Amino acid sequence: MTQPIVQSRPTFCRICEAACGLIADLDVSGQPVRLRPDRQHPVSQGFACAKGTRFLEVATHPERLLWPLQRQADGGYTRLTWAAAMAFLAQRLRPILERHGPHAVGLYFGNPLALLILLLLFGWPIFSESTTKPTSDPRLSSLIRPKKCSSSLGLKS
Ligand code: SF4
Repeated sequence: MTQPIVQSRPTFCRICEAACGLIADLDVSGQPVRLRPDRQHPVSQGFACAKGTRFLEVATHPERLLWPLQRQADGGYTRLTWAAAMAFLAQRLRPILERHGPHAVGLYFGNPLALLILLLLFGWPIFSESTTKPTSDPRLSSLIRPKKCSSSLGLKS
Protein backbone atom coordinates (compact mmCIF):
# COMPACT_ATOMS: atom_id res chain seq x y z
CA MET A 1 0.00 0.00 0.00
CA THR A 2 1.30 3.46 -0.88
CA GLN A 3 2.13 5.65 2.08
CA PRO A 4 0.45 9.06 2.12
CA ILE A 5 2.95 11.85 1.54
CA VAL A 6 2.70 14.58 4.15
CA GLN A 7 5.80 16.62 3.43
CA SER A 8 8.37 17.23 0.68
CA ARG A 9 11.90 18.46 1.22
CA PRO A 10 14.62 19.54 -1.21
CA THR A 11 17.80 17.50 -1.15
CA PHE A 12 20.36 16.31 -3.67
CA CYS A 13 21.73 13.07 -5.01
CA ARG A 14 25.11 11.99 -3.61
CA ILE A 15 25.82 9.21 -6.10
CA CYS A 16 27.90 11.19 -8.56
CA GLU A 17 29.48 14.60 -8.87
CA ALA A 18 26.55 16.08 -10.79
CA ALA A 19 24.74 16.30 -7.42
CA CYS A 20 21.34 16.62 -9.08
CA GLY A 21 18.62 18.31 -7.08
CA LEU A 22 15.93 15.99 -5.76
CA ILE A 23 12.71 16.32 -3.82
CA ALA A 24 12.25 13.78 -1.04
CA ASP A 25 8.62 13.00 -0.29
CA LEU A 26 8.18 11.99 3.36
CA ASP A 27 5.50 9.92 5.03
CA VAL A 28 3.82 10.76 8.33
CA SER A 29 6.77 9.32 10.29
CA GLY A 30 9.23 11.55 8.44
CA GLN A 31 10.67 8.68 6.39
CA PRO A 32 11.41 9.32 2.72
CA VAL A 33 9.15 7.25 0.48
CA ARG A 34 9.95 8.73 -2.92
CA LEU A 35 12.68 10.74 -4.62
CA ARG A 36 11.90 12.82 -7.69
CA PRO A 37 13.72 15.45 -9.75
CA ASP A 38 13.67 19.00 -8.43
CA ARG A 39 12.56 21.30 -11.25
CA GLN A 40 13.43 24.35 -9.15
CA HIS A 41 17.06 23.31 -8.62
CA PRO A 42 19.26 26.07 -10.11
CA VAL A 43 21.72 23.66 -11.77
CA SER A 44 20.00 20.38 -12.54
CA GLN A 45 16.66 22.07 -13.39
CA GLY A 46 14.59 18.91 -13.15
CA PHE A 47 17.18 16.46 -14.44
CA ALA A 48 17.92 13.34 -12.42
CA CYS A 49 18.76 9.88 -13.68
CA ALA A 50 17.20 6.60 -12.58
CA LYS A 51 20.05 5.90 -10.17
CA GLY A 52 19.20 9.00 -8.18
CA THR A 53 15.44 8.69 -8.24
CA ARG A 54 15.54 4.97 -7.35
CA PHE A 55 18.14 5.27 -4.60
CA LEU A 56 15.66 4.61 -1.81
CA GLU A 57 15.60 1.02 -3.06
CA VAL A 58 19.32 0.82 -2.31
CA ALA A 59 19.07 2.64 1.01
CA THR A 60 16.31 0.39 2.29
CA HIS A 61 17.41 -2.88 0.69
CA PRO A 62 17.43 -5.67 3.31
CA GLU A 63 20.86 -6.89 2.10
CA ARG A 64 22.48 -3.46 2.19
CA LEU A 65 25.95 -3.74 3.72
CA LEU A 66 26.13 -1.45 6.75
CA TRP A 67 29.13 -2.85 8.65
CA PRO A 68 32.36 -4.76 7.98
CA LEU A 69 32.10 -8.49 7.40
CA GLN A 70 35.04 -10.89 7.63
CA ARG A 71 35.05 -14.00 5.48
CA GLN A 72 35.40 -17.20 7.47
CA ALA A 73 37.06 -20.49 6.52
CA ASP A 74 33.67 -22.07 5.92
CA GLY A 75 32.72 -19.35 3.42
CA GLY A 76 30.43 -17.54 5.82
CA TYR A 77 30.89 -14.04 7.19
CA THR A 78 31.30 -12.66 10.68
CA ARG A 79 30.37 -9.12 11.58
CA LEU A 80 33.24 -6.93 12.86
CA THR A 81 33.29 -3.53 14.48
CA TRP A 82 34.87 -0.79 12.38
CA ALA A 83 37.78 -0.61 14.85
CA ALA A 84 38.37 -4.35 14.60
CA ALA A 85 38.20 -4.22 10.81
CA MET A 86 40.69 -1.36 10.62
CA ALA A 87 43.04 -3.11 13.04
CA PHE A 88 42.82 -6.29 10.97
CA LEU A 89 43.60 -4.41 7.75
CA ALA A 90 46.54 -2.59 9.33
CA GLN A 91 47.91 -5.86 10.64
CA ARG A 92 47.64 -7.47 7.19
CA LEU A 93 48.78 -4.53 5.10
CA ARG A 94 51.99 -3.64 6.92
CA PRO A 95 53.82 -6.92 6.15
CA ILE A 96 52.66 -6.74 2.51
CA LEU A 97 54.02 -3.21 2.14
CA GLU A 98 57.27 -4.09 3.89
CA ARG A 99 57.84 -7.20 1.79
CA HIS A 100 56.63 -6.03 -1.64
CA GLY A 101 56.63 -2.23 -1.54
CA PRO A 102 53.85 0.33 -2.11
CA HIS A 103 52.93 -0.97 -5.58
CA ALA A 104 51.68 -4.17 -4.01
CA VAL A 105 48.62 -2.34 -2.74
CA GLY A 106 45.93 -0.66 -4.80
CA LEU A 107 42.95 1.46 -3.92
CA TYR A 108 39.58 1.48 -5.58
CA PHE A 109 37.41 4.58 -5.54
CA GLY A 110 34.02 5.18 -7.01
CA ASN A 111 32.21 8.40 -7.73
CA PRO A 112 32.29 11.11 -6.62
CA LEU A 113 35.47 10.74 -4.58
CA ALA A 114 37.53 9.42 -7.49
CA LEU A 115 36.82 12.42 -9.70
CA LEU A 116 37.37 14.85 -6.86
CA ILE A 117 40.80 13.33 -6.24
CA LEU A 118 41.62 13.58 -9.96
CA LEU A 119 40.42 17.16 -9.89
CA LEU A 120 42.71 17.97 -6.98
CA LEU A 121 45.66 16.19 -8.54
CA PHE A 122 45.38 17.34 -12.15
CA GLY A 123 43.01 20.28 -12.21
CA TRP A 124 40.31 21.26 -14.70
CA PRO A 125 41.73 20.27 -18.10
CA ILE A 126 41.18 16.52 -17.72
CA PHE A 127 37.40 16.91 -17.55
CA SER A 128 35.10 16.95 -20.53
CA GLU A 129 31.79 15.43 -21.56
CA SER A 130 33.54 12.12 -22.17
CA THR A 131 35.28 12.00 -18.81
CA THR A 132 32.45 13.08 -16.56
CA LYS A 133 29.53 10.93 -15.62
CA PRO A 134 26.78 11.02 -16.73
CA THR A 135 28.83 11.34 -19.88
CA SER A 136 26.55 13.52 -21.93
CA ASP A 137 25.46 15.98 -19.27
CA PRO A 138 26.87 19.36 -20.36
CA ARG A 139 25.65 21.10 -17.20
CA LEU A 140 28.29 19.45 -15.09
CA SER A 141 31.15 20.06 -17.46
CA SER A 142 30.12 23.68 -17.82
CA LEU A 143 30.44 23.97 -14.06
CA ILE A 144 33.85 22.39 -13.74
CA ARG A 145 35.53 23.54 -16.95
CA PRO A 146 36.70 27.00 -17.89
CA LYS A 147 33.93 28.90 -19.64
CA LYS A 148 35.89 29.34 -22.87
CA CYS A 149 36.15 25.56 -23.31
CA SER A 150 32.39 25.18 -23.01
CA SER A 151 31.83 28.04 -25.41
CA SER A 152 34.20 26.63 -27.99
CA LEU A 153 32.15 23.45 -28.11
CA GLY A 154 28.89 25.32 -28.36
CA LEU A 155 27.74 24.21 -24.93
CA LYS A 156 25.54 26.28 -22.71
CA SER A 157 27.64 27.72 -19.90
S1 SF4 B 1 23.29 12.04 -12.66
FE1 SF4 B 1 22.07 10.48 -11.55
S2 SF4 B 1 23.53 9.56 -10.12
FE2 SF4 B 1 24.45 11.47 -10.77
S3 SF4 B 1 23.80 12.99 -9.24
FE3 SF4 B 1 22.29 13.07 -10.92
S4 SF4 B 1 20.64 11.68 -10.28
FE4 SF4 B 1 22.47 11.20 -9.01
